[in-house]
Amino acid sequence: MLPLMTHPSAPTQLIDRFGRTVDYLRISITDRCDFRCLYCMAEDMTFLPRAQILTLEEIYTLAQAFAELGVKKIRITGGEPLVRKGALELLQNIGAIDSLNELVLTTNGSQLETMAAGLKQAGVKRINISLDTLDADKFKAITRTGDLQQVLSGIQASKTAGFERIKINAVILKDRNHLEVNNLVQFAVDNGIDISFIEEMPLGVVSQHNRADAYYSSDLIKADLAQNFSLIDTPEKTGGPSNYFKVEGTQTRVGFISPHSENFCSTCNRVRLTVEGRLLLCLGNEHSVDLKQVIRANSGDMTVLKQAIIDAMLIKPEKHEFNINEQPVILRYMSMTGG
Ligand code: SAM
Ligand code: SF4
Repeated sequence: MLPLMTHPSAPTQLIDRFGRTVDYLRISITDRCDFRCLYCMAEDMTFLPRAQILTLEEIYTLAQAFAELGVKKIRITGGEPLVRKGALELLQNIGAIDSLNELVLTTNGSQLETMAAGLKQAGVKRINISLDTLDADKFKAITRTGDLQQVLSGIQASKTAGFERIKINAVILKDRNHLEVNNLVQFAVDNGIDISFIEEMPLGVVSQHNRADAYYSSDLIKADLAQNFSLIDTPEKTGGPSNYFKVEGTQTRVGFISPHSENFCSTCNRVRLTVEGRLLLCLGNEHSVDLKQVIRANSGDMTVLKQAIIDAMLIKPEKHEFNINEQPVILRYMSMTGG
């Protein structure tokens, strides 16, 4: 790896025009995936050529630059991050960055049966696993190529590996899996893990379902859950947009990520790095800076890279503008962005 140069008096924090400190980076390390979830991808996706995506070494350098600028938490995501060759080594390297408090991962769970223990050793503290249903046929219908049993085995392997926290992420779509919400919470309770419900976001053009028709709000989910569970509001935040409730009498927390019905932008502390090295300042806007270009044009110069990141804070928008009833203005898929 090239030696990196840093100016000693460079700023060590990222603060945007609205006074928000950015200390959380999400990195999409691949746009590829072994699943084709119908809200996330088209069935016949075209993936990016290798030269267009960041190398593992570039990703590491970027992670290091962000950590030096005060980023304390990095989430590795994708696409399916664990299908990228060398993912485990990358996680080990990022996990060894001293100033980082938290290295976390979002995965579809398909590789966890064999990789969970290695990920724990690499320093991954918390893990989010996507699971939208416990019905094998529905699971196949939603993921198009996924196998429920494989993911359930991955969840068991993660429990054995002993992560600080395991959380299920479920995207709820009306008439596809909205009747599953109670089962999913019961599954989380039985396994002593947490769960977040996510409202679908209009990212990328998808076929096979209409997003406005499929919209199922967090409030509807809460009403459904109230029939079986007592949810106690908590002030707790985990550095993300979820509002958390505790399931009474259990250790399980239930989170709601509601980009449509609630606006969580005023406390936004995060930015995203796409698989192509584009720094996205907001999930719901196109404001971005091409850090791949910066890193490739100034090989090894950490000062230039860090300055580009600091300057990028000036274009972080105040809030996102999602409208589920319109064709997406955001044409990139969640898999490129890193959900
Ligand atoms: N492949 C991994 C997974 O599925 O967990 C990581 C990447 S995936 C893009 C991250 C999260 O984004 C998943 O929980 C997925 O359900 C969610 N997601 C994908 N497309 C979405 C959309 N259009 N709206 C809301 N959530 C979405
Ligand atoms: Fe793959 Fe995750 Fe997108 Fe599903 S949500 S297609 S698992 S990247």
